[in-house]
This record gives sequence, C-alpha cells and structure tokens, in this order.
Amino acid sequence: MIGVLDLQGGVQEHLDHFCALNVPTRTVKLANELNGLVGLIIPGGESTCLMRLLHVFNLFEPILQAHQRGMKIWGTCAGAILLSSSGFKLIDIKIKRNAFGGQLDSFSSEKLIPAVSPTPIPLTFIRAPKIIHVGSDVKVLLRIENYIAAVETSGILATIFHPELTPSLAFHKYFATKCGVSVSDNDGKFAWNRQSWMRH
Ligand code: GLN
Repeated sequence: MIGVLDLQGGVQEHLDHFCALNVPTRTVKLANELNGLVGLIIPGGESTCLMRLLHVFNLFEPILQAHQRGMKIWGTCAGAILLSSSGFKLIDIKIKRNAFGGQLDSFSSEKLIPAVSPTPIPLTFIRAPKIIHVGSDVKVLLRIENYIAAVETSGILATIFHPELTPSLAFHKYFATKCGVSVSDNDGKFAWNRQSWMRH
C-alpha cells in the first residue's frame, strides 16, 4: 500500500491517480498509519507549514524510521524541499525555494523523460523550487536549462513539478513500480475528475 501524507497540500489528486492505476492507498496523519507502507507521497503545498505540521503531528521521526525500514518516498514540489538538505536530508540535493518567482510565474510545459515514459510528460510548476545541486549518488531524471527538475536514488524520488495535477499517470506508475507494487496496464492517461477534491 502507498500512503499520502495528509497534513496540508495536494492530497486528493495523488489518491485519484493511484486509484486509476488500481494501486491501494491510505492517507497518513498519524504515525501508526505508516505501518506496512511500501511508499509514501509527501505532496506539494507549503514546505514551512508542512515541516511545522510534521512536528506537531509527531511524524518526523516515524517517517525517517519507516524509510530506514524500506519505505520509499516521493516528494512533489514542497515535498521535494522537505526531502532535501532543508528537511529530512534523505537525498543529497540542494534546492532553491520559489526559484521561478511568485504564484503568477507558475507555468506548464511538456518534456520527454525517457526513464519514466516513452512519450512526453506534461509538467505543472506551481511556485516551484529549482534543484541547483545534486550529490554523486543522485540520478538526474530531468534537467532543464540551468536547473534540475526530477531526481532519484534507490529509496527517494523528488520532482519539483506536479504530475498529480495533470492527466498523466506516468510518474505514479513509475513510483508504484519503484515500490514493488504492480499497476494495472493502461495507456498512461485517464479521465481525471479535477473537481474530486471538493468532496472533502
Ligand atoms: N513554494 C512552495 C514552498 O516553497 C512550494 C509550492 C508547491 O508545493 N507547489 O514550499
């Protein structure tokens, strides 16, 4: 089962994407909800706020321990910031917050990321950071001009963009496979209901 950290940020969209792949998920607000997870998503949102809530909810140490026991973690945007040297320090990357400017400088594009999908993947950047340095053990999945946008190690995946805010399932499929979870085969896209978060 894959967990989605449910303290703040874009939770429902990750759940929707895994649901479309028939990957079982659970939201995580409490430390005992980490039990038995093979993977955890730290979603996009606001990294300062998320970091405070991780301590308020006593989740910081339990997440580190679960990772040491083998739980893989994927951080999107603010989640990537939390995995870096400014947070959990679980991947050797340096990251610059809000590196594209303010909210109005948010944008979408599309790139080919051969390790993840044979077809170009839509990318959504929202007040995104830039990865500006990676350690020698970090694999770069996507480099754009003078910054790095997606990286991984055996236990960690970090993206500065939001695959959960696009109709593409490629990254969710990639992460589930990395966690050893089988996914239902499809063409990599689905009819995503963008209003699904309103149910909550
Ligand atoms: N700007 C946010 C931060 O620095 C990240 C934005 C996002 O997750 N989309 O935490």
